[in-house]
Amino acid sequence: MTTIAFIGLGIMGSPMAQHLARAGHDVVGFDATPEKAKPLIDAGGRAADSGPDAVRGAEVVALMLPDSPDVTDVLTGEDGVLAHAAPGTLVIDFSTIRPDVAAGLAAEAAAAGLRMIDAPVSGGQAGAENAALSIMVGGVDADVAAARPLLEVVGKTVVHVGPSGAGQTVKAANQLIVAGNIALLSEALVFLEAHGADLPAAVEVLGGGLAGSAVLNQKASKILGDDFAPGFRIDLHHKDMGIVTSAAREAGVATPVGSLVAQLVAATRAAGDGGLDHSALYRTIARLSGRGSDTQTHGRP
Ligand code: NAD
Repeated sequence: MTTIAFIGLGIMGSPMAQHLARAGHDVVGFDATPEKAKPLIDAGGRAADSGPDAVRGAEVVALMLPDSPDVTDVLTGEDGVLAHAAPGTLVIDFSTIRPDVAAGLAAEAAAAGLRMIDAPVSGGQAGAENAALSIMVGGVDADVAAARPLLEVVGKTVVHVGPSGAGQTVKAANQLIVAGNIALLSEALVFLEAHGADLPAAVEVLGGGLAGSAVLNQKASKILGDDFAPGFRIDLHHKDMGIVTSAAREAGVATPVGSLVAQLVAATRAAGDGGLDHSALYRTIARLSGRGSDTQTHGRP
C-alpha cells in the first residue's frame, strides 16, 4: 500500500484517484474546488484541506491539472510540492503540459531531492473511468519502474518513451492526431448529411473499414445526437494545439494540417464553445457550410 497525494480531481483525476483508492492505496485528494473530493471519499480515500496537507506523509504525489502554469505553481509555489514533500518522494505528473516545462520541472524536482516523471494520458473520460488509459511516460528508468505498478492501476497501455519531457512530446503528437481525426470525421458527417445519407448506417460501415478509429467509435454517435457535454473540453484541446504548434516550431518541422486544425479549434473556442467537448469542432465545420444550429445550447449555461 502506498500513500498517494492526488492533486487535481477533475474529469480525469477524480476517477483515476478513485481507482487507486479501490486498489487499496491510501489516497489523499486535494482540489481547488473542495467538493470534487467527495467521490474519492466515497471510494475509500481521504480529502486534504490544502496542497501541503495532502503532500505531507505522501510517498507519491500525483498531479492531474489543466495546464503548464498550474503544474508549475502547484510544484514550485510557496505552498508547493517541492517545498513540502519528503526527500525521495516520487511525483507523477499525469497532466498534459509543454514538454520543455516538464523537463525543466523534473530537473527542479531532482535538485530539491525529489523524483519526477511525466505520464500524460490518452483515452478520455471513458478511459479514466474504465482504468483503460494509454500512458506515455518520460523519465529515469528507476523512477518509471517504481511508478509502473500505480500506472497499471489506471492504465492498460503503459509505455516508457524516453527521458523527462518525452511523454509530453508523444502526448502532443497524440493531440495532433486526435484533433485532425475529429476535424475529418466532422467534414465527412457534414458531407454525408448534405447528400441525404443514412448517417447511422454510414457510421457503422465506416467504422469497419480503414476509416474506423477510436475517435469515430467514441464521437460519431455523440455528434449525431447533438451531445457535446465534455469529455475533453475545447479549451483544453486549444491549449494542446498551442503545445503542438510551438514544439513543432522549436523542432523546425512543418505541420500544415495541424496548423489548420489548430485554427479551427481556436475558432470553435472563439465562437463560445470552449466549454464543450472537443467533438464540438463539428459545430464550427458545419457552420462553414451553413449547416448546424447556433441556437442549441448543448449544456452550456
Ligand atoms: P478538469 O478541469 O476537469 O480538472 C482539473 C482540476 O484541477 C479541476 O478540478 C480544478 O479545480 C483543479 N485545479 C486547478 N488548479 C488547481 C490547483 N492549483 N490546485 C488544486 N486543484 C487545481 O480537467 P481534466 O479534463 O480532468 O484534464 C486534466 C488534464 O488532463 C489536462 O491537462 C488535460 O489536457 C488532460 N487530459 C484530459 C482528458 C479528458 O478527456 N478530459 C484526456 C486526456 C488528458
